[in-house]
Amino acid sequence: MNRIAIIGGGPAGLMAAEVARASGAEVDVYEAKGSVGRKFLIAGKGGLNLTHSERRPAFDRRYRERSDDVAAWLDGFDADALRDWARDLGVDTYVGTSGRVFPMDRKAAPLLRGWVRRLREDGVRFHVQHRWTGWTDGALRFDTPDGELLVHAGATVLALGGGSWPQLGSDGAWTPWLSAQGVDVAPLLSSNCGFDIGWSGHFAQRHAGTPLKPVVAYWRDAGGAEHSLQGECVVTATGIEGSLVYALSASLRDSITAHGSAMLHLDLAPGRDLARLERDLSKSRDGRSLGEHLRRQSGISGAKAALVFEALGKSAGDDIARLARTIKRLPLRLLRPRPIEEAISSAGGVRLEAMDASLMLRAMPGVFCAGEMLDWEAPTGGYLLTACFTSGRRAGLGAAKWLGKAAA
Ligand SMILES: Cc1cc2nc3c(=O)[nH]c(=O)nc-3n(C[C@H](O)[C@H](O)[C@H](O)COP(=O)(O)OP(=O)(O)OC[C@H]3O[C@@H](n4cnc5c(N)ncnc54)[C@H](O)[C@@H]3O)c2cc1C
Repeated sequence: MNRIAIIGGGPAGLMAAEVARASGAEVDVYEAKGSVGRKFLIAGKGGLNLTHSERRPAFDRRYRERSDDVAAWLDGFDADALRDWARDLGVDTYVGTSGRVFPMDRKAAPLLRGWVRRLREDGVRFHVQHRWTGWTDGALRFDTPDGELLVHAGATVLALGGGSWPQLGSDGAWTPWLSAQGVDVAPLLSSNCGFDIGWSGHFAQRHAGTPLKPVVAYWRDAGGAEHSLQGECVVTATGIEGSLVYALSASLRDSITAHGSAMLHLDLAPGRDLARLERDLSKSRDGRSLGEHLRRQSGISGAKAALVFEALGKSAGDDIARLARTIKRLPLRLLRPRPIEEAISSAGGVRLEAMDASLMLRAMPGVFCAGEMLDWEAPTGGYLLTACFTSGRRAGLGAAKWLGKAAA
């Protein structure tokens, strides 16, 4: 029983394994897939955004309702500590223009390879193709290529991930198993996701895949307060996605839950004020088409122009004041978030109130949870991985301490 079982070989589980092993415990990592860190590797495809250089407490506020809880985890291991940790593995990082932090080579694979090698050298045992399926008489039950396996462990860290991109291993199958044990689990929801709008077939066919940049988004949170943010998004076949939309996704999703749909307004011409736009658009068209007039007088063309026509229809040119207002505040009704399978991350999971400060489940002493399977969410920008690493560390330390207490 001097063993700690870590289930899930993502960043949270591997970090838990690292600190648990450093405390002297026997550590076994069980992973359902044939290799660990698959989502971490995919995160590296677009240039691994490991963390963010934003200073605390602004950094903490990215975790919304959970900022106080995550702040406590970050007190033990924050973004700077994460960068030092990566450097220790031979991976130097740099701060990009947006403040995001990346490995110098922007890749996840060298970091993951070096990390797993070091964990193995330190004595962590890896068991891939071991899919945990719950408990039998207090033992952990796994499906393995050799049949069912029962494992007794002195402490367990569950780091099973959320529900997005299930093909990479984190499929959320664990939620009913924990609920059945009396653990309070919030439903998994799409986070950092696109939204459906329901374009006309003509618009979708012509403009899916087109970026909209720069634009300023205006939206109201579920409480009715208006916010704005400049950025970029992309038209999709069914609606809209991209970094700007991801950043608002929690708020928009909650508004849809509360009101059935959410209004997003886009300023398609952030560089021009309404009065100038109206003045320029009022100039004579000299026989030019409205599309050409828009392009010349407001810089609006392509998908942006098509959005204006989609909103105003054939009469778009009849009322210049209305046309200018629409360019400055194009209304988009968001119908629903895209399915969780497509989202970058998920919200929901094990409620933090179901755990003590060491991330041990109150209903299941000796069982700890970490990473995206916990009920917090944050925008992209490195905040996701940072919370996974720091909660993994806290859960691993908690498990080691629990084991020490049991042995004493
Ligand atoms: C396309 C994409 C890009 C991303 N880019 C970034 C980025 O640049 N920066 C950032 O901060 N975040 C990014 N993220 C999010 C980030 O990758 C995740 O938040 C993070 O990987 C979650 O870590 P985790 O350890 O909690 O879970 P995961 O990484 O999902 O790992 C969980 C592991 O548990 C295993 N598992 C699940 N169930 C079982 C079971 N029953 N038995 C055994 N094993 C099981 C899974 O196979 C998986 O390996 C990105 C996500 C996606 C999808």
